[in-house]
Amino acid sequence: MRLSRYFLPVLKETPAEAQIVSHRYMLRAGMIKQASAGIYSWLPLGYKVLRRVEQIVHEEQIRAGHIPMLMPTLQSADLWRESGRYDDYGEEMLRIKDRHDRDMLYGPTNEELITDIFRSNVTSYRDLPLTLYHIQWKFRDEIRPRFGVMRGREFLMKDGYNFDLTKEDALHAYNRHLVSYLRTYERMGLQAIPMRAASGPIGGDNTHEFLVLAETGESEVFYDSAVTDIRLGEREIDYDDKAQCQAILEEFTALYARTDETHDEAAFAAIPEARRRSARGIEVGQIFYFGTKYSEPMGAMVTDADGNRVPVHMGSHGIGVSRLLGAIIEASHDERGIIWPEGVTPFHVGIVNLKQGDGAADVACDGLYAALAARGLEPLYDDTAERAGAKFATMDLIGLPWRITVGPRGLANGVVELTSRRTGESEEMSPEAAVAKVAEIYGRSSL
Ligand code: ATP
Ligand code: MG
Repeated sequence: MRLSRYFLPVLKETPAEAQIVSHRYMLRAGMIKQASAGIYSWLPLGYKVLRRVEQIVHEEQIRAGHIPMLMPTLQSADLWRESGRYDDYGEEMLRIKDRHDRDMLYGPTNEELITDIFRSNVTSYRDLPLTLYHIQWKFRDEIRPRFGVMRGREFLMKDGYNFDLTKEDALHAYNRHLVSYLRTYERMGLQAIPMRAASGPIGGDNTHEFLVLAETGESEVFYDSAVTDIRLGEREIDYDDKAQCQAILEEFTALYARTDETHDEAAFAAIPEARRRSARGIEVGQIFYFGTKYSEPMGAMVTDADGNRVPVHMGSHGIGVSRLLGAIIEASHDERGIIWPEGVTPFHVGIVNLKQGDGAADVACDGLYAALAARGLEPLYDDTAERAGAKFATMDLIGLPWRITVGPRGLANGVVELTSRRTGESEEMSPEAAVAKVAEIYGRSSL
């Protein structure tokens, strides 16, 4: 993409309403624009990152054997009356009447709708196990929407639902979600720690939240600092291997890590003092096992091997897709702007032409652009007439992890400069070497 043809409305001034760094940078980098309280338009740059994050979520869910689908945002109140949650859910549910005076709502979550799909179509244990998920906009009429996309009213969520014959199978589904979520966050350059949590209106006892540690987080958390040393890394995972998934759950949840709702002073005090931490965290996901809480009242039954009709065991599992953008920025930025991890960057590399209109510089930039594109990489080429300082400031603000700087002086010596956004270190090399190095950094990845 050439910047002169793109739509990147960066702001020079810091918007007064933004209280936390991710919100400030998302506004300043022209990623989002508030449409009304807690509701945002996703401008091209923000939309690009949102799609990258969404894509990683899809890939990891599909890898775990979960099946993508799409349910609507607007739902009929009838199903929610069946589960009993229409009255329970309270003020956060946006209730709407259609022209025939029927009660509708903008879905805050989808347990009812998915249970209805299941019961209409699945009758035998032979069709289990089954896990369906979608990535869809949700609406919760939060009393205090704030911090930009972190606590919106309209937000994008991945929510998945497992249907299993037995509790044991459903707990394996729970473990699969835990493992796939760990992989998902790690690919985004994030550490999200699973912490024992309370279940709220979804119901059930078995639940973990995934928290990214950050001073601006809204959750109060308590943990043993040794949990921050555990990584999933590159290990091979077989999602059908119950013992392996269970072992990973145990590895990640053996040490004390809880949100304030389930915090236990006595257990916390038992951690060696030097490892005891209380901190703030951003909730980027949550998994639940809730047994037959919905299947029983809503009649989601299957015939088991003995011919008995039994309610299925269910769980639901959510990732805050749009909130993740805020969480990534909270975890990865400096005083000049965002620093995107390579896994989610909107463009792989920026090209800065120090002297637009200079024949040699223009030719070299065009050549770099074509060579990078030929490798399946997407550069953002600043081909505007801005001065160099302003170009660097924009690149730093929008946070592309790599920048190639091209100027007449370097070209006279046959070199361009490759700079890491994270370390600030620059290296001079031939344009071909710069292309090869960027391609190597990204492996075979393409946007
Ligand atoms: P919170 O405690 O932050 O209100 P929640 O526990 O009510 O969240 P869940 O029902 O667990 O949320 O939803 C799954 C995920 O969706 C959460 O882990 C979070 O990342 C995201 N999420 C929830 N509410 C919002 C919101 N208002 N804005 C953006 N993301 C949200
Ligand atoms: Mg939650």
